[in-house]
Formats: sequence, C-alpha cells, structure tokens
Amino acid sequence: SKNDGRGVYRFFEKVMDAEFQSRLALEMDLRCAINNNELELFYQPIISLDSNRLCGFEALIRWNHPTRGVVPPTEFIGIAEEIGLIDSIGAWVLKSACAEAATWPSDLKVAVNISPVQFNSKLIVLSVISALGETNLPPSRLELEITEAAMLDDNVLTLQTLHELKSLGCRISMDDFGTGYSSLNYVQKFPFDRIKIDQCFVRNMSEEDRSNAIVRAVTGLGASFGMKITAEGVETRAQLKQLQIEGCNEVQGYLFSPPRCARDTRRLIDRVRER
Ligand code: C2E
Ligand code: CA
Ligand code: CA
Ligand code: CA
Repeated sequence: SKNDGRGVYRFFEKVMDAEFQSRLALEMDLRCAINNNELELFYQPIISLDSNRLCGFEALIRWNHPTRGVVPPTEFIGIAEEIGLIDSIGAWVLKSACAEAATWPSDLKVAVNISPVQFNSKLIVLSVISALGETNLPPSRLELEITEAAMLDDNVLTLQTLHELKSLGCRISMDDFGTGYSSLNYVQKFPFDRIKIDQCFVRNMSEEDRSNAIVRAVTGLGASFGMKITAEGVETRAQLKQLQIEGCNEVQGYLFSPPRCARDTRRLIDRVRER
C-alpha cells in the first residue's frame, strides 16, 4: 500500500541521513587527527632478491581514531583529498617517514606513498625538500610511490614534477602497475626508477601460467627501460620462487612480514642485523 512505500522511503531517508552524519563527523575528526597525534606510520619490510637482504621498508599510514579504532588509509585518504587535507597529511607522512628512516642503518631505504592529489599540488616538491632537510635523510634513501591516477596524460606538469623530484636525488616508483588504463603509456613516457607489480598479478602466480606470463612481461619491460621491479603482496613460497625465476628485484608481502609499528620495526632491524 501507499503507507508501506512511505515507510520504506522514511527508512532509507534515515539510513542515508545517518551515513551523511557519520561521514561529516569523520571529516571533522580528520581535521584534528594530526594535532591529536592520531596518525601513525607502519612499516613493511622490502627484501632484495638481488642481495637476499632486507633493503628497506614501505611506510603505510594508519589513523588511530579515538572511538572507531584503527581506520585504514583506503577509508580516509580519499576524504583527505576531497576536503583539502592531503597536503598537510602528506607532509606529515613524508617528515615522519624520513625521521624514522634516519634512525635506521644507512643502507635501508624508505618508500613513501604520494596520493594523486598531493602529487599534483604545488607544494609537493617543497614538502619533500623540507622533510629531507629537517631530518637530514640522504635523498637517495627516499623512494616516492606514485600511482597512475597521479599522472596526467600529455601534461608537462607531470613530467616537470617527476624531474624536479628526481633532481633532488630521490627515486620514483610507479605503484599498482597494470591496474589502470595506460600503464604502458606512462612507463614509456615518464622516467620511473621502479615498477611495483600490483598484488593482483602476484596472487595467482603459482597456480596460473597466465599470471606468470604477465609478471614475466613486466620484468622484461623493466629490463628494456632500465627500471627495477618490485612485487607486492607475496604470501607464499611458491610465489616467491616464481618471482625469483622471473628476475624480479624486490619483494614484499605477508610471507615476510605484515606492516609493523615503528618500534617493532626497529626491533626487527636489530634482530636481522645481529645474525
Ligand atoms: P599500496 O601502496 O598498494 O600498499 C599495499 C597494501 O597491501 C597495504 O595496505 C599493505 O598493508 C597490503 N599488503 C602488504 N602485504 C600484503 C600481502 O601479502 N597480502 C595482501 N593481501 N595485502 C598486503 P594498506 O596499508 O591498507 O594500504 C592501502 C593503500 O592505502 C596503499 O596501497 C596506498 O595506496 C594507500 N596508502 C597507505 N599509506 C599511505 C600514505 O601514507 N599516503 C597515501 N597517500 N596513501 C597511502
Ligand atoms: Ca605503495
Ligand atoms: Ca601497490
Ligand atoms: Ca594498491
């Protein structure tokens, strides 16, 4: 009946209103997250297959929300981009990651994710310069990870920003390779030091020959363009073995370690170095 319809409508209205309120509250909370010390970086080990050694860590942000618990980056980086907070959060990430890496042995690098909006902001080069300057981290120990969404086709700004960042002495990786529309186009056009093969291609490696063929094609591409290859999301020995066969340079994934907090990361470094 008519009445039922109205009831259902009111129900949805309430649900949507609740979602809107919740989102609004999250935005407000995010605005205070830096000052309230609620942001934290975790670090996931990166292992070099060329040297069979730990060679660095990828910094991954977490938000320790006072009532919601840990909010993953996938749930707030997009919001931060939308409400104009990404420059300040991004600058915080760069500075914290560089400061932490400066306490590690000098042969370990840190890889930092740069959001598309942050990459296209006027402030990006300045943020990197001041993070390096304030922490005294040698630029060669900083790797910046950029996804395809950051790159604007035929845009001089993308190329200019990449060149400026590289001229500081940092390295640049193309993250989540193969998941967008123009991966090949961008690899040809832009001067990346490294390609990170997305974990969706690593996942099926041992079981499916077709995935092996994709990884083989990407390592071949890297060799032709003088780019190193990292595989992420490595979870099994079979995947690792196959990646070694295909000539992948670096690996990371739960097989070795999940991302850990800064203190546990320092402990891990100490344990690895004692051996
Ligand atoms: P990403 O850069 O592709 O990072 C890899 C994600 O895979 C991380 O999720 C990591 O915890 C997870 N992972 C690592 N090893 C494995 C594995 O063996 N199996 C599986 N299934 N997953 C694995 P996380 O930490 O939730 O980060 C998600 C995404 O959020 C990142 O994807 C990155 O795009 C973004 N992100 C993280 N930290 C930052 C940051 O500081 N700034 C920006 N702009 N984005 C960030
Ligand atoms: Ca990444
Ligand atoms: Ca990735
Ligand atoms: Ca990803």
